[in-house]
Amino acid sequence: MAVVEKTEGKSESRPFEADVAKLLHLMVHSVYSDKSVFLRELIANAADACERLRYEAIANPALLGQEPDNDTKLRITVALDPQGKSLAVEDNGIGMSRDEMIEALGTIARSGTKAFLDKIEATRGAAEAAAEASPLIGRFGVGFYSAFMVAERVDVISRRAGTEEAWQWASEGKGEFAVSPAAATAAPRRGTRVVLHLMDDARDYTERFRIEQLIKAQSGHVPVPISIVDKPGAAPEEITDGAALWAKPKSEIKPADYVDFYRSIAGMFDEPALTLHYRAEGRQDYTTLFFVPSTRPFDLFDPDRKGRIKLYVKRVFITDDADILPRYLRFVRGLVDSADLPLNVSREKIQESPLLAAIRKSATGRVLSELERLAEKEPQNFAKIWDVFGAVLKEGIYEDFERRDALLKLARFKTTVGDDWRSLKDYVGALKTNQTAIYYLTGDDLRRLKTSPHLEGFRARGVEVLLLPDPVDTFWVMPGVSFDGKPFKSVTQGAADLALIPLLDAKGQAGADIAESVKQFLAFLKNTLGDAVAEVRASERLTDSAVCLVAPESGPDRALEKLLASAGRLNSASKPILEVNPRHKLVVALADLPGSERAFKEDAAHLLFDEARMLEGDRPADVKLFSDRLSRVLERSLGSSS
Ligand code: ADP
Repeated sequence: MAVVEKTEGKSESRPFEADVAKLLHLMVHSVYSDKSVFLRELIANAADACERLRYEAIANPALLGQEPDNDTKLRITVALDPQGKSLAVEDNGIGMSRDEMIEALGTIARSGTKAFLDKIEATRGAAEAAAEASPLIGRFGVGFYSAFMVAERVDVISRRAGTEEAWQWASEGKGEFAVSPAAATAAPRRGTRVVLHLMDDARDYTERFRIEQLIKAQSGHVPVPISIVDKPGAAPEEITDGAALWAKPKSEIKPADYVDFYRSIAGMFDEPALTLHYRAEGRQDYTTLFFVPSTRPFDLFDPDRKGRIKLYVKRVFITDDADILPRYLRFVRGLVDSADLPLNVSREKIQESPLLAAIRKSATGRVLSELERLAEKEPQNFAKIWDVFGAVLKEGIYEDFERRDALLKLARFKTTVGDDWRSLKDYVGALKTNQTAIYYLTGDDLRRLKTSPHLEGFRARGVEVLLLPDPVDTFWVMPGVSFDGKPFKSVTQGAADLALIPLLDAKGQAGADIAESVKQFLAFLKNTLGDAVAEVRASERLTDSAVCLVAPESGPDRALEKLLASAGRLNSASKPILEVNPRHKLVVALADLPGSERAFKEDAAHLLFDEARMLEGDRPADVKLFSDRLSRVLERSLGSSS
């Protein structure tokens, strides 16, 4: 937290943190058509503030009960002033001290917002950035600062629970904000009032009917009651009751209620792809309401991203940081409300509770079994989830030993067969005669994987190969992982063991003897390339291409090897094996050249090696030598044809 000197009595201007300034610029220039999200964001903040107070009041009841009239009922009020062109969202929650205000409303804490900015940064020019950001603002919600989409000035007046002093924060969203003490009479007795001085084209946000509809649609299930005051001096009228949706019987909840609730707690604008609401009774009594989103958040792969499951105990919000689901389910949103966890201990203690560990275990199992059920009953819908979150779920295969089999069963893959997702069950059901392994190819680009020469011998035998383009794939396919008793085997590693599997087309003469001249040419290649390769050998996996690189039988496969080497995690990168297609026309012709063509053959040897490297997405070993050799070979071909 920023350490700030107290400057009693006077107003003080401060610049926004650079990221906030960028974000505000986008807000002000946004052409996003549904600016109403600002109201959802402000109400969400107000509800959080009420829930935080409810929690702090467990240890310190005076915080809730200290008002003169003992108004302990937490509430949110949206006050409209059509004449004054303003809208205020007020809560009697935890409030903010001066320092908290400066920290919270001058910097950006959420990783999602930072990731959002990084994405927009890539776009050059303010106008383009604003255009690109516009549709995304609504999808991902960017918190408090979204107020500046509709307001030309925002005042925040707040009094922290348990303190006397009140502070005012004010900004026009143009690079700086001012903080000053607020007159006691102008401030809420406890909590925060956010006042939006609306832009001319946003005046209709003072219309009662419109606001009531918006609140019901966007924030109808916020667990704090919301009232409207439709003009200064009017009596507040409650329009949502703040009842916890998850505590209601399922039969009373409409699908649209779930969608609204999901949007308001997740700050998302999509429809959940899966909703899981159940009450566990017996040894543990708790209610779970989980949602799987249908779009991918920006920060899904941010290493700091935490789980997003809120923990409640008997309707009291405890924390949104409770690690209820494992990391590989970090895309699941929602909450757990326990009836058994102790309320009167610290958050940390609750986290360590064996009761919570038991909830964690059963909730994780339940999410996976629900996904499995969906995969069986509604494969299309499951495929949509897999499209978006499959890369994250696969992390579980190596992280969660206990549930590895369940995750392997869930996993879907692109393969050399068709374009649809295939399960391992599909794969194993289509094994070829004598096929004993599940073959895979890892890399970083599905299109390049599909054209890899390593696949040729497998295609020629109709052997399916899993194509694994995600970074996580290099890690989970490790030794020891198997499915249905079949080990996983990289097609870029070791000898291909394909000889025993019959070819689809008997003309592909595998096993036919290799010409003596080709055998000598292989020895010549090894001699010429020297230490750059571990071995040069005839290939069983190639049918159309002349060459490819493979990794030795033991140790990492080609993709993992390259990854470890580039991360500096490998002391001595093992040398690749150059496999040569002994029946390829080019290879046979080179092998048949007379001894007098030695220089040309050497050029060809290096070029073949470079070709194999480039097929894996690498550069030639030495770009200058490569281009010299290529020129010589081209010149010769022109010379011989003229
Ligand atoms: P987020 O809510 O995701 O943290 P916001 O930009 O919406 O991001 O809000 C920033 C911070 O400002 C909040 O985390 C909170 O600390 C503080 N804040 C915003 N509104 C209120 C409020 N009504 N009462 C207390 N604190 C608030």
